[in-house]
Amino acid sequence: MNERNLLMIPGPIEFEPAVLRALGEKTRSHLDPVFMKAFARSLKRLREVFAAPSAQPFVVAGSGTLAMEMAVANLVQPGDRALVVNTGYFSDRIATMLERHGAAVTHVRAEPGAVPSLDEVERALSGGGFKVMTVTHVDTSTAVLAPVQALAALGRKHDALVVVDGVCSVGGEALEMDAWGVDVAFTASQKALGVPPGLAVLLAGPRAMAAWKARTRPVASMYLDFAEWLPVHEAYEAEKPAYFATPPVNLIMALDVSLGQLVEEGMAARVQRHVKIAEVVGRAWKALGLEPLPKNEAHRAHTLSALYYPAGVDASLVKAIAQEGVVVAGGLHPALKTKYFRVGHMGAVTMNDVSATLGAIERALEAVTVATSPGR
Ligand code: PMP
Repeated sequence: MNERNLLMIPGPIEFEPAVLRALGEKTRSHLDPVFMKAFARSLKRLREVFAAPSAQPFVVAGSGTLAMEMAVANLVQPGDRALVVNTGYFSDRIATMLERHGAAVTHVRAEPGAVPSLDEVERALSGGGFKVMTVTHVDTSTAVLAPVQALAALGRKHDALVVVDGVCSVGGEALEMDAWGVDVAFTASQKALGVPPGLAVLLAGPRAMAAWKARTRPVASMYLDFAEWLPVHEAYEAEKPAYFATPPVNLIMALDVSLGQLVEEGMAARVQRHVKIAEVVGRAWKALGLEPLPKNEAHRAHTLSALYYPAGVDASLVKAIAQEGVVVAGGLHPALKTKYFRVGHMGAVTMNDVSATLGAIERALEAVTVATSPGR
């Protein structure tokens, strides 16, 4: 594999050179005024990216899984009830975390590639007493896009805190945290935010912060506790020195550059670019005879595609695509893992990247089909 291959998995993705340059700069003190300024600017810009002027942002060293657990650890106490709108692998993961933190979990499940109906979710919520409802905005295992706005409205109506896993959506899909009534949304740096892996990013709205303040027991994990991070983030936003745990200075400098690019592009334009790219690849999948996992077009993510292997083709296709210079991902959902592959198209992705990817997939399909059809 040479250095010029194209990374088209659903995260990490191809990053902008300016972001990588920031990552490679000399590491500053975490109390350096230049760093404090960059951190402060990043926190303010995150409110813009999440459309959440009323939320408190947290940026912590860790991956998306840490962000998931930060949400759970701060909101849930043993005995609380949680409803998981389950669209796949990452919904199962947050359910496991909720259980480990002592919550009683109810699932509303859909078949892989589908979303539970709003009626089913409302019926479950009507049972009452749910402190939190979790939604995976884009389930990366199936490329299913959940209707967050409608689900959040239901959660609010039934007085549950609405927690959105936006790891594969924020910076690519439409998300209006405040306007939609989302209480917590989180992501990780390596996807549509466009920064190498290593940052967990979480925004907590006023209801979530109030629920955290109203806890009767301390958060069991010190590293995840808002109580440790809130004063640090408030200080950094005011460009004042603070310390709880050493911040990943270079990653935050890189985040500042990437968020600058996001804000410059504009969130509406950025979402539109993802929609347009999804339309282009959607037409290409049809032309290539590749069937997406999500049957309903309205439930297809704009940040990645999950595609069944055509008849007679197996996971060797992923290797053949890599031989053509493009790295895509295999299946992830345990029920279907060997039957499909995934292509990321988010963040800094361009039409040139898309063309190269489609070309590589077409050539690889031809190569594996010829290899498995000796009579042809
Ligand atoms: N949630 C979703 C929807 C994801 O796609 C991922 C990562 N693929 C995660 C959570 C976990 O993030 P990480 O791998 O960075 O821990």
